[in-house]
Amino acid sequence: MSEADCIFCRIHRGELPATVVNRADGLLAIEDMNPRADVHVLVIPERHIETFRDVGVLPADEAKRMLDFVAETARAVGLDEYRVMVFCGAGAGQTVFHLHWHILGGTFRGLPA
Ligand code: AMP
Ligand code: ZN
Repeated sequence: MSEADCIFCRIHRGELPATVVNRADGLLAIEDMNPRADVHVLVIPERHIETFRDVGVLPADEAKRMLDFVAETARAVGLDEYRVMVFCGAGAGQTVFHLHWHILGGTFRGLPA
């Protein structure tokens, strides 16, 4: 999917609504619209990278900032213990082809069948 149509690019551009829980330069954290846990937040880098497979295109400083932002966002939403997940590829459950991290806190209701 191109950046023009990509749901997460559109959220970054402000073209689609989202409940933003944290933001930093080039990074956004939003509530998942279909939560699978008591707290379910998505961390979405602004840069359009289709899957985790291509994470190597990120400069080292951006990759480090993204990981720090995942941990900072979990703290910001009150989580001390949580899961961080990435689904890579359709066969592994990825549905939006723009790299993102799931932060799941509290009771985890599982993955889609
Ligand atoms: P994945 O299966 O890893 O690609 O996860 C995509 C996630 O994005 C799913 O958990 C969806 O519920 C969530 N999602 C899709 N569209 C939106 C949206 N417009 N706002 C918030 N969450 C979304
Ligand atoms: Zn995108």
